Amino acid sequence: MFSFGDSMARLISQLSRLPGIGPKTAQRLAMHIIQLDDARVKDLANSLVEAKEKMRFCSLCCNLSETDPCSICSDEKRDQSTICVVSDPRDVMAMEKTREYKGLYHVLHGSIQPNEGIGPEKLKIRELQIRLYDGEVKELILATNPNIEGETTALYLSRLIKPLGLKITRIARGLPVGGDLEYADEITLLKALEGRREI
Ligand SMILES: [Zn+2]
Repeated sequence: MFSFGDSMARLISQLSRLPGIGPKTAQRLAMHIIQLDDARVKDLANSLVEAKEKMRFCSLCCNLSETDPCSICSDEKRDQSTICVVSDPRDVMAMEKTREYKGLYHVLHGSIQPNEGIGPEKLKIRELQIRLYDGEVKELILATNPNIEGETTALYLSRLIKPLGLKITRIARGLPVGGDLEYADEITLLKALEGRREI
């Protein structure tokens, strides 16, 4: 079978292992990359290595960050009494785009999915509980995705945390059912946040 050579095959193979990249797209990207200027290819390679080296998880909110604590957790102007719980770092980006939410976040890094063997112990729930003990947090906004996994996770958290006596709210259902927070536009997300209900 025809091949462009081992180095090209390796590049295509690496690219096709990325999420959402099929073999055809991997080939197209590889072709594109090797036709770029040397400087641009070096920039691309360096940015991969640098991001991997520098990015870490904030020890408080578990969001991705170059610093620990992250810029949100260390911002004293933000409302320290409210924590918005999301599944994924990309959901923090989506919420921040609304420019209205001024509280803190907590990133669970997933949702409860019993069929996939993902139980609560695989999520950053313990880290969330630790943040609630000192009594400074008054409201927990459950902003997990409006799908079965997100609802299951929200229900689990509300039952777990209810005994602590703080206000627990769930974002409104203005979001498309089965959709992901990160794909919602800013206005929809803002309405969902404003319309949150106590549970
Ligand atoms: Zn943080």
